[in-house]
Amino acid sequence: MRLIDLHNLSQKRLEALQSAGIRHPEDLLFLFPRRYIDKSRIRPISLLTESSDPVTVIGKVVSKQVTGFKKGKRLEVVIRDQSGSMLKAVFFKGWKYFITQFKEDEWVALYGKAKRFGRYMSMAHPEVDPVKEPSDIQKFEQLIPIYPGSKHFTKAYINSNLIKSWVDQILGSTNVPEFLPGDVLSRHGFMQRHQAFKNIHQPDDHSQAADALERFKYEEFYLFELSMAKIKNVQVSRSEGTVLKPGVLTKKFFNEILPFKLTEGQKHALADIRTDLESGLQMNRLIQGDVGAGKTVVAIGAMLMAIDNGMQAAMMAPTEILAEQHYQTIKQYIEPLGLNFRLLTGGQKTTLRRDILTDIEGGSCNLVVGTHAVFQEKVKFHKLGLAVIDEQHRFGVKQRNEILLKGDHPHLLVMSATPIPRSLAMTIYSDLDISVIKDLPAGRKPVKTAVRTDKERQAVYDFLEQSIGAGDQAYVVFPLIEESEAMDLKDATMGFEKLKRRFPDFSIGLLHGRMKPDEKDGIMKRFADGDTQILVSTTVIEVGVDVPNASIMIIEHAERFGLSQLHQLRGRIGRGSKQSYCILMPGTKLSKDGRFRLKKMIDTNDGFEIAEADLKLRGPGDFLGTKQSGLPEFKHGDIVEDRLLLEQAKNDAWNLIKKDPDLDKSEHKELKKVFEPYFKERSEFFGVG
Ligand code: ADP
Ligand code: MG
Repeated sequence: MRLIDLHNLSQKRLEALQSAGIRHPEDLLFLFPRRYIDKSRIRPISLLTESSDPVTVIGKVVSKQVTGFKKGKRLEVVIRDQSGSMLKAVFFKGWKYFITQFKEDEWVALYGKAKRFGRYMSMAHPEVDPVKEPSDIQKFEQLIPIYPGSKHFTKAYINSNLIKSWVDQILGSTNVPEFLPGDVLSRHGFMQRHQAFKNIHQPDDHSQAADALERFKYEEFYLFELSMAKIKNVQVSRSEGTVLKPGVLTKKFFNEILPFKLTEGQKHALADIRTDLESGLQMNRLIQGDVGAGKTVVAIGAMLMAIDNGMQAAMMAPTEILAEQHYQTIKQYIEPLGLNFRLLTGGQKTTLRRDILTDIEGGSCNLVVGTHAVFQEKVKFHKLGLAVIDEQHRFGVKQRNEILLKGDHPHLLVMSATPIPRSLAMTIYSDLDISVIKDLPAGRKPVKTAVRTDKERQAVYDFLEQSIGAGDQAYVVFPLIEESEAMDLKDATMGFEKLKRRFPDFSIGLLHGRMKPDEKDGIMKRFADGDTQILVSTTVIEVGVDVPNASIMIIEHAERFGLSQLHQLRGRIGRGSKQSYCILMPGTKLSKDGRFRLKKMIDTNDGFEIAEADLKLRGPGDFLGTKQSGLPEFKHGDIVEDRLLLEQAKNDAWNLIKKDPDLDKSEHKELKKVFEPYFKERSEFFGVG
């Protein structure tokens, strides 16, 4: 069957369907009802009471008339049912149409909310169904699906009833083939695909529809997980990795240079990395650890293992400031080892850049740290052994694969401070192996967090004055929201001027995203060196910046930040051994969500707890940045709510790919048909295959 075989399909309607993304009959089957109406509660008018639940009444039309003037103009229809009582239906809009729906002395069914209005029980804008006689109620026994509307539909007069009739036509004239393997169906007790569509569109009761929906959620997760399994398989099978063993440099770094003891979490992560690098297969590992967990030294350790084996290492950070900071850290640790390391960012002068590129290509540069600039085509490595991507959620999956093409199957380490729940991470980043660093370096005091209003500003400033007098440093952060960048910039600039007036004796810096990289670096460096005491900033400091002496953070308009962002910001302080303070200063109006976020920040320092709350609040797409994470927008399933189902789908899918990697077995024929186009689309996105 094709779309054009649908009845009542004008050219205009066909175009409307196409504009709404419906190109095949199956697309229409996937237009699931928004809700269902139950017209089976048929009541005698004499027993009606006012209630918020709609009911059905069936009566004979006694009279119909248009009354009232101008805005009050309306159609009033009176019906009388077998109980002898009367009910008035009132239509304020579309009465020219509705008047044709009623014929005196004929039976009609009305569905709506009953209200007493003067003498009569009445219904405003009930749904009208003609009936032959009062016992003609068969059609009310089924739930009635209500389909989502769209502007395309309205223009072409496509209403819910028409969609229903199309769907019924499709389900009646085609048999939708099953593609899930039989053992999957029986293990989960899923109904056949055709039946599932029937139960979604023509359910006898709500639970039937819910069971069918469960199947479609699973199906969606299953295809996704098959593609993840496949991508991993593609990568593993094409990628014997170079065996890298820790040598002199690595040992010297950990035993002689590093000024502190590794935490247990850091040790575990490094052990995982070492196992990967010695395995002969390409490493593809995610290190998850809260802000301040110490991921950088783990990355440096890994990079040294590559350099120990005569190979180059690269590390990418999402911002120039962060890249610069990593560069400084690396300098501190790697200079004593006599290695050649370079910083590569977008803002560098052409001659310098050329010099750096030559160094990288010639192989004299052992390690390069940089921004997105590293991914560029012009950057060619002599022998890239390992790539690290910091704050990986800021990069696309595509970039992850781009960097892999810069070497002969280099090992990949990605790092993230977005501590999403482990089960969830395993499912959505299922093409990566994961190490979690749970603990923070010893001696850290948890940051104390408080909310202060504008009225308390004096007290806040007094506290700031005291602390800075005692040698502390502080951040004052203003939000930066893209749409109103100019205005927010004004906020930060004005805040900066105000603070300068209030604290004439302190040295205060201003940092924002519109500055030139050199300028930013200079300001950041002065703050890191302790020359600046207060750093006023937009959120450019959000990611990764490390100044252990900074122990105070004031966040202005704190209600405008997302939870994870607040947590990231707060992670900039509490990095030394001093007690740190985070003061959240909301603007005047606080939404319910806004209040919840601030409270959560006071209640806990646990990144996992905060992430989970944020995930609930914002939904997965927004939380992870759907496009960034490579996570598709699931149409039916919700990766948080339906986590269990997702996990089951993952296990099933991965087992299948292990057993039948190319889906060549005859029992997977239908699955292969569905999966191939799906995978093609995804793998293009991932840049593999
Ligand atoms: P993140 O995981 O957020 O990237 P960093 O790598 O920036 O954290 O580390 C935060 C701070 O903790 C840095 O100043 C770093 O030198 C320090 N640090 C890292 N590991 C340890 C440790 N085991 N003991 C003490 N300090 C550490
Ligand atoms: Mg970091």
